[in-house]
Amino acid sequence: MNKPKILILGAGYGGIITATRLQKTLSANEAEITLVNKNSYHYQTTWLHENAAGTLHHDRTRIQIKDVINPNKVNFIQDTVVEIKHEEKKVVLEHGELEYDYLVLGLGFESETFGIKGLKEHAFSIASINQAREIKEHIEYTFSKYHTTPADKRDELLTIIVGGAGFTGIEFVGELGNRVPELCKEFDIDREKVRIICVEAAPMVLPGFDPELVEYAVSALEKKGVEFKIGTAIKECTEEGIVVAKGDDVEEIKAATVVWAAGVRGSALVEEAGFETMRGRLKVTEHMRVPGHDNVFIVGDSALIINEEINRPYPPTAQIAIQQGFNVAHNLAVLVRGKGELQEFKPDLKGVLCSLGHDDAIGVAFDKKLTGWSASFMKKMSDNRYLFILGGLGLVLKKGKFNIF
Ligand code: FAD
Repeated sequence: MNKPKILILGAGYGGIITATRLQKTLSANEAEITLVNKNSYHYQTTWLHENAAGTLHHDRTRIQIKDVINPNKVNFIQDTVVEIKHEEKKVVLEHGELEYDYLVLGLGFESETFGIKGLKEHAFSIASINQAREIKEHIEYTFSKYHTTPADKRDELLTIIVGGAGFTGIEFVGELGNRVPELCKEFDIDREKVRIICVEAAPMVLPGFDPELVEYAVSALEKKGVEFKIGTAIKECTEEGIVVAKGDDVEEIKAATVVWAAGVRGSALVEEAGFETMRGRLKVTEHMRVPGHDNVFIVGDSALIINEEINRPYPPTAQIAIQQGFNVAHNLAVLVRGKGELQEFKPDLKGVLCSLGHDDAIGVAFDKKLTGWSASFMKKMSDNRYLFILGGLGLVLKKGKFNIF
């Protein structure tokens, strides 16, 4: 009998956990498992803001797929997915085509600019190793040009705008708060001349977070030299900077660096496949499947699941993507073997932690509010725990975070 073909697209948190769990559960003669990813590596998306600020080298963030995948169990193909033909059970890659019996979509998120003029063209976004590396190099370049640029054009070189005071924006300005003094020292620049401006259209920083923790975060970041413009919308991004509006007040801020960290959506490929989505996110069944397509699963940021308690979608997070990977691997093993029980997916939220640089953080863990050193420590331990799940102690020792202070 032919072995069922399981095809996993994307080696983000959801995809790589599905693949590594399946290789532990199924033997090589039970299924033919293939993982496709555009890079040879998996990366910890939750660390990209550190790579973008230049506080952590990107090699710490990425993990070569061959180091965690057993080639006798999982066939890894480095290629880019260009089309999903679910009617024909085929996926088109840049360099070929693959057939499947079961498909797992783990293609992650894309930046969403909500149609704001010029953002796509002129702003950076923190969505991949390549983009993070580009931001780091760009900021260093702007600092390096300071002393050789005419005096009337210098200030904007040292102005960094971050659009969005949600999780990503706050974590990024926290890292910049640590990095900017180092850059100033390296390029002989007075710290007072550098501006890090965080612009947020909502009336508060970190919407949804506990107000006491938010107050702590704002005060800690202001001490690191971050300016906040809250209740202020970015109207346009140009080559020169941004145009913002607060009520009727419109202001142009000249800046050589604009980073958009305010919106994400699911992969466009899921939408283009003809499935019904909301900004690339698809409301999955209780077993993480596409309704009406029992052989197609979704993990990670393209999957939309509803928190019944508040009747709103769960925010897309790595924590949930990892748990979905476990769930889908279990359910696939049940289907392949034709025995056992399918498990419903229910997120088991352990808490939420937001870093404010490598030495500070806020969050809630085990129902306790944490700030400062203890929150930062918990966040690093949770990062190390993920590395342990993925690649055991060896991977923790190679890539883990041990700088406690
Ligand atoms: P992703 O991590 O998005 O990865 C998708 C993978 O698919 C990538 O490897 C990509 O290369 C690959 N891929 C995409 N398109 C193609 C294609 N066409 N062909 C082949 N391969 C493709 N969440 C938390 O829980 N805690 C945090 O502290 C946290 N911090 C964050 C900080 C930042 C700066 C950012 C940007 C996000 C943060 N998040 C956090 C959110 C979290 O990172 C995402 O929810 C998570 O990455 C989603 O995982 P995923 O499995 O959907 O795949």
